[in-house]
Amino acid sequence: METLNHLRDECTGNWRLMGAAESRTITCDHCGAEFTATPENRLSAIDENYAGIYLRRLTAEGISLGADTSLGD
Ligand SMILES: [Zn+2]
Repeated sequence: METLNHLRDECTGNWRLMGAAESRTITCDHCGAEFTATPENRLSAIDENYAGIYLRRLTAEGISLGADTSLGD
């Protein structure tokens, strides 16, 4: 199973659907990582974008993510 990986582990960019209908790719708007836009990759991209937005919102609200490990991963 393919997974979407950023060029840098710490990248927090969003995945975007790029290109024309027959040659679509999923591209990170920050590091430029690029993958074929298969249905599986598109779902992964949507999941990752939601997770990224959620994490950034928590950080913006000043909630510490490091202190409490009971939430798991
Ligand atoms: Zn990236």
